[in-house]
Amino acid sequence: MTPSTTGTTRATDRNGPAVKPGGLPPGSETGSRPVRAPRGVERTCKTWQAEAALRMLMNNLDPEVAEKPASLVVYGGRGQAARSWAAFDAIVESLRRLEADETLLVQSGKPVGIVRTHAEAPRVLIANSNLVPAWATQQHFDKLAAAGLMMYGQMTAGSWIYIGTQGIVQGTFETFAECGRTHFGGTLRGRLCVTAGCGGMGGAQPLAATLAGGTCLIADVDRGALNRRHRDRYLDEIAEGVDAAIDRAVSLASAGEAVSVGVECNAVELLSRLLERNVRVDVLTDQTSAHDVMSYVPAELTHAEAETLRRVSPAEYERHALATMERHVRLMVEHMKRGAVTFDYGNNIRQRAYDNGFADAFAFPGFVPAYIRPQFCVGRGPFRWAALSGEARDIFVTDHEILKLFPRDGGDYARRLHEWILGCHKNPEALLAGDFERCEPRFAFQGLPARICWLGLGERDKAGLLFNRLVAQGRVGAPIVIGRDHLDCGSVASPNRETEAMADGTDAVSDWPLLNFAVNIASGASWVSFHHGGGVGIGYSQHAGQVIVADGTPAAAARLARVLTNDPMMGVLRHVDAGYPQAAGCAEALGVRVPMGRRAGR
Ligand code: NAD
Repeated sequence: MTPSTTGTTRATDRNGPAVKPGGLPPGSETGSRPVRAPRGVERTCKTWQAEAALRMLMNNLDPEVAEKPASLVVYGGRGQAARSWAAFDAIVESLRRLEADETLLVQSGKPVGIVRTHAEAPRVLIANSNLVPAWATQQHFDKLAAAGLMMYGQMTAGSWIYIGTQGIVQGTFETFAECGRTHFGGTLRGRLCVTAGCGGMGGAQPLAATLAGGTCLIADVDRGALNRRHRDRYLDEIAEGVDAAIDRAVSLASAGEAVSVGVECNAVELLSRLLERNVRVDVLTDQTSAHDVMSYVPAELTHAEAETLRRVSPAEYERHALATMERHVRLMVEHMKRGAVTFDYGNNIRQRAYDNGFADAFAFPGFVPAYIRPQFCVGRGPFRWAALSGEARDIFVTDHEILKLFPRDGGDYARRLHEWILGCHKNPEALLAGDFERCEPRFAFQGLPARICWLGLGERDKAGLLFNRLVAQGRVGAPIVIGRDHLDCGSVASPNRETEAMADGTDAVSDWPLLNFAVNIASGASWVSFHHGGGVGIGYSQHAGQVIVADGTPAAAARLARVLTNDPMMGVLRHVDAGYPQAAGCAEALGVRVPMGRRAGR
């Protein structure tokens, strides 16, 4: 793997001196108030397409869902849903007035225009955080954000399809489960899995690791983040003190108990102490917010002290944070050398450590080449949906129906789908029997009830059409909105993450997410987005998202069939082109047309 060293100093000279980094655009907090999406069948917009966009924007900011709703931050450090509260109000107002043949344009969280298109066009087009490559530096972005001209959209924050921590649980489960299969004979039972970062996305780790059978020990400097995951049943226990946490986790692992233990401390403190005590870690990763230097918390500072330093001396904060990240990755490599199966979990921490002088920072792989790429080759990725009725029962109905649509004996992925969906329920037998009154979620829904599961090409369209029928037949209370993460098979260029170590070296080619963005517009998704920097920070990724509404109409069925076929097909095409035989096999089996065939460009 070749670490990218670009994006750190380019163009900054031309941009003038760096301004205070890490800030949110002005107005982020002015006019803040609690927001919650409307529920039920009464619309305040003229179409369900616009209504769904409005509800999902509001849902992203629901205090149950967003990490810092008062400043419009949904998750991922400073990933915002709108640039300011004034922009939020203007988006809501625009969506309410939007006609069935109009499209709202949103530029970095601000509504900038409404154009006449046609009924089958998207109702909203979104571009967030994009910069011309030579200017795509953190400094230049921060300067524009501080002037109120841009915002950081992360992936599903600025594209209004975040569904809380569950959104990442299944992908994380897939990763830990695959790790168990690859390295530990099929299960993580009895294995000590250590990580850090229990925030909006990282909070999925303790639940996913235990669903995969492991014992999880997770550090976070913010007690509030641990408490929140504990309250939502993603984290089983919180121990007082690093040594007590290590003792508890080691004893749980030796008893083979799939339990998670959280501890309030810096990641480097936990990893150092594990080394000092000579504790053998089986699996090691990290999901602190390292993609954003100003969100990652430097060592020896409490969460509160970090807040103060960030405000009064951002340059000192940045130096301190980068030094800690370097130390953090050195500790990870040391654990790896002592036998821990170690992987990067998509927060770009290796790049930060490398840029700060640790030449061996890329000694361990990213999670995509290590575990996920085979799924991308067949168009699989994080399919998700939310019930606009607000009724949990609607999700139970869709869970029940999706298990019938993809029977358990349909192969390895179908078996995993059943394990996952049934694992989301406290009473799986009630779900199987269709006794929805007795169904109870294993972990709390955040905001509008929602579900995620990984589906591939040839499956997503079937699921979308099924949901549309459920809406048409009145078997669910209101339309269902369907989307996905930008972390998908054919929608992202991110050389340190989704496209790390591509077989043909095309890691940094971003024609693919641009084609994905265009394909989803041409196919008629309800809203479509193109972002820069999500997951790994400014300069390191470009990616596209789509959301489509199943409102029960024949027109929606036609759009669902197109979008939910063409969108995952981009993953197959991208991996056929890069030379993956599994993708070529999938293309042949499913009749995907590839004019010049595999690696024809060479
Ligand atoms: P977040 O901002 O909601 O949470 C980050 C957490 O890390 C916070 O609770 C913070 O207190 C904690 N933290 C920061 N520095 C720390 C340190 N040094 N030691 C211990 N705790 C520390 O962010 P998030 O949404 O949870 O995302 C976390 C990271 O994971 C981001 O970089 C994001 O881009 C990445 N991510 C990866 C995937 C994936 O599938 N691989 C998906 C989503 C997000």
